[in-house]
Amino acid sequence: RDEILDHEYIFQGVKLTPAEENDFRYKKKIYDLVKDHVESADDVDEYKMPEAYDMGEGVNQEKRFSVAMQRYKDPEGKDKMNPFAEQEAWEEHQIGKSKLEFGSKDRNRSSNEYQFVFDDQIDFVKSSVIEGTQFEDDSDQETIDAKDILKRELQDERKTLPIYKFRDELLKAVDEYQVIVIVGETGSGKTTQIPQYLHEAGYTARGKVACTQPRRVAAMSVAARVSQEMGVKLGHEVGYSIRFEDCTSEKTMIKYMTDGMLLREFLGEPDLAGYSVVMVDEAHERTLSTDILFGLVKDIARFRPDLKLLISSATLDAEKFSDYFDSAPIFKIPGRRYPVEVHYTKAPEADYIDAAIVTILQIHVTQPPGDILVFLTGQEEIETVDEILKHKTRGLGTKIPELNICPIYANLPTELQAKIFETTPEGSRKVVLATNIAETSLTIDGIKYVIDPGFCKIKSYNPRTGMESLLINPISKASANQRAGRSGRTGPGKCFRLYTSYNYMHDLEDNTVPEIQRTNLANVVLTLKSLGIHDLVNFDFMDPPPSEALLKALEQLFALSALNSRGELTKTGRRMAEFPLDPMLSKMIVASEKYKCSDEVMSIASMLSIGNSIFYRPKDKQVHADNARLNFHTGNVGDHIALLNVYNSWRETDFSTQWCYENYIQVRSMKRARDIRDQLEGLMERVEIEVCSNASDLDAIKKAITSGFFHHSARLQKNGSYRTVKNPQTVFIHPSSGLAQLLPRWVIYHELVLTTKEYMRQVTELKPEWLVEIAPHYYQLKD
Ligand code: ADP
Ligand code: MG
Repeated sequence: RDEILDHEYIFQGVKLTPAEENDFRYKKKIYDLVKDHVESADDVDEYKMPEAYDMGEGVNQEKRFSVAMQRYKDPEGKDKMNPFAEQEAWEEHQIGKSKLEFGSKDRNRSSNEYQFVFDDQIDFVKSSVIEGTQFEDDSDQETIDAKDILKRELQDERKTLPIYKFRDELLKAVDEYQVIVIVGETGSGKTTQIPQYLHEAGYTARGKVACTQPRRVAAMSVAARVSQEMGVKLGHEVGYSIRFEDCTSEKTMIKYMTDGMLLREFLGEPDLAGYSVVMVDEAHERTLSTDILFGLVKDIARFRPDLKLLISSATLDAEKFSDYFDSAPIFKIPGRRYPVEVHYTKAPEADYIDAAIVTILQIHVTQPPGDILVFLTGQEEIETVDEILKHKTRGLGTKIPELNICPIYANLPTELQAKIFETTPEGSRKVVLATNIAETSLTIDGIKYVIDPGFCKIKSYNPRTGMESLLINPISKASANQRAGRSGRTGPGKCFRLYTSYNYMHDLEDNTVPEIQRTNLANVVLTLKSLGIHDLVNFDFMDPPPSEALLKALEQLFALSALNSRGELTKTGRRMAEFPLDPMLSKMIVASEKYKCSDEVMSIASMLSIGNSIFYRPKDKQVHADNARLNFHTGNVGDHIALLNVYNSWRETDFSTQWCYENYIQVRSMKRARDIRDQLEGLMERVEIEVCSNASDLDAIKKAITSGFFHHSARLQKNGSYRTVKNPQTVFIHPSSGLAQLLPRWVIYHELVLTTKEYMRQVTELKPEWLVEIAPHYYQLKD
């Protein structure tokens, strides 16, 4: 390394001074560390299954940083012994595709473009400045120092928010009009302040104030903040409600909740009698539930003149909302935003994870104080970046200022979520690794730099096959600008886009397509049907879903016997609607009554609901971990029963943490499964299904599963692949399955994941006659 350095001391023909040399050495060291993270990746992903097994939720992504893929490469990039060659080829193919879109990073850029010669430095060009908005008056200038603000009492702090000046005007407008559209820059205080103003003005005396959020984390975090501001205990006067977690009480007056939870509340209370105000927040997100809520609240507002509706959004195109709500007035909160310099990369980046890490360190060593916010697409990516950054900076010790890494995503334990709001100690810098949640839902103060790779995870749905998948897609221009704006809240900011200005101009759509137009509607149709809304075609959608998707949903619900041939809700459908689960899972639970195994099926449903984070596999104990896992599969019972075995064994130890450690099982996931199960058990009472156990009759349990998942059946082919029975396509048993070696003739699967191949995950053997017995309307015998 020193040789290389010596060689580079003469930079563009100029000999460096000893001070410059020192500086050079130090920066070079940092960049070297960035560069070699690929080789050291081996010891950073300790608690994960190897990628080829543990595909997590992010598998279907087209562009992804894969530790596993790198691990099997030697420094020249040639394959070493590589058991995952196929996956690698796929990844490379995918990355190749993305090159067509975004081009590729040229690692051998000509060196004299740089101030320093680093292979892995990214060159940005400043391209535009998003103008800041003017201050309403200059006295605000004093309040912009983030540290100052935090020293004041919370009540004083509330008065510094842009919305405060409009408090009285806003309350007057709410008094005067039934529906108001509110627009204001992120951080102006809409979410935290408006419900408090309404409470102070007496609205909570007549009923609760509901404020919906598209994301669980936002609902929880904002509720926590507001309870703090009001000086009350979270869950008392101020609470939140998210799926599988209700933190409210009799006392609750201000209730933050996910939009999906309010939708569910319509089932029990179709006129929302308990509420005096409903605030549909983050309306611009246009989630599926928000869109449905629009139609429902618009409807009840007609026969409940006392109900106030607030539709709030961070974007300026509020006219559409206003038009939809019969020309409701638009209340604009003048924002407070400093100018933001936007920088683009000169050349496109093929690997945005890599590029993001380099850019974080680049900012950290070259830019003045100020925190960094990085937008990533999901938990898996955030954990990868977190681990690599920790690894890089550890080696540097005190040579660079401290870098506090704060991840934030939906499944992060609550205690850790609070960390992103803590002020950064002087002399150190905070880097927040966030999902889309930080785009508008959560305001983090002190951010001066934003790194925007330009991607997010988006659900997409193919109504023809009925398949839904989460794909990593380029964001829209609107999102890109929201992201950039996050850096200009407390002072002028900078946004580093890891794509070129050409990409921005030509490859990004103007706006994100509303979720309702790209999702499986079975759940929503079931909810609407159980609310007595039959005429879905004429439902007042702001943007109607494709009729093909509506038909597919009706068809699926009919097959599950949730609807009869006239499209009316059946008793089964009514019961299914009570469960906040996918219709196939709720059908499986409802069917467990018939097979007298509801206890077992509830456990299986809970375990399936927590996804793929049950087992872990430490590097040094892989064999032990695998053996522990195989224990649950004894008798080749299939993956569903194996999950049940895990849950029951844990229950037998009285939910012991020690037991989890010994069996290489993640305690946190198990606790979540237990919570979910408790909720399901509560709902069983509501639908009057007796909880009873039938542990010895595995066929009964499997039949109950089949009752929900008969759509997902597949038959073995001669070459070891499977063919799905309906919508025939070639699929394989996932290597992590207990049946991967066994290849039963018929199987039923929980879900399909696409990696190198289309894999079935969570597989159980099936007797084909069950299909005809359970779903005779769907399957008939051929001969
Ligand atoms: P808006 O909804 O208009 O985007 P918010 O009401 O969410 O604005 O935020 C207003 C202020 O409250 C911001 O300065 C933000 O930093 C602060 N804030 C919000 N949530 C929290 C929290 N959980 N912890 C600390 N500060 C918070
Ligand atoms: Mg908000």
